[in-house]
Amino acid sequence: MSNKTLAIIKPDAVGNGFTGKIMDRIIEAGFKLQAAQLMQLSREKAEGFYAVHKERPFYNDLVDFMTSGPCMPMALEKDDAVNTFRSLIGATNPEEAADGTIRKDFAESIQNNAVHGSDSNENAQKEIAYFFTSNEILDY
Ligand code: GDP
Repeated sequence: MSNKTLAIIKPDAVGNGFTGKIMDRIIEAGFKLQAAQLMQLSREKAEGFYAVHKERPFYNDLVDFMTSGPCMPMALEKDDAVNTFRSLIGATNPEEAADGTIRKDFAESIQNNAVHGSDSNENAQKEIAYFFTSNEILDY
């Protein structure tokens, strides 16, 4: 069981002024913030992050969305971080997300769904390294 996950507050949520509210939910749920940076993704960076979805019909729209404004990647620590964080954010489609989840409360649509959370321990490691150097991950 790994204890880290990569989260991103996506451009819809940053643009809608939900960054602080979403961070509060995450901290209140017991996650420790180990790294965070507000950044504007380049097209190349967003394409690389979502490369696994390259053949999906929504890939170009997804890259457009992820580069449409600033987002905030974060490295988070908690026991069973990947699964616990995915429960906290809810289903991909906010219409299907459970009450009280971040996507239910803050997402706009299946695409503009407020937050990303890694889907496996292996991907969490890769995704954290995609945005942060080991020096930027603060263990405390
Ligand atoms: P996640 O693990 O819940 O983020 O979902 P996926 O890995 O399946 O998809 C990655 C991201 O692509 C989602 O978070 C959405 O932003 C977007 N996405 C997923 N499904 C769709 C879709 O059917 N249409 C569009 N436009 N975007 C989608």
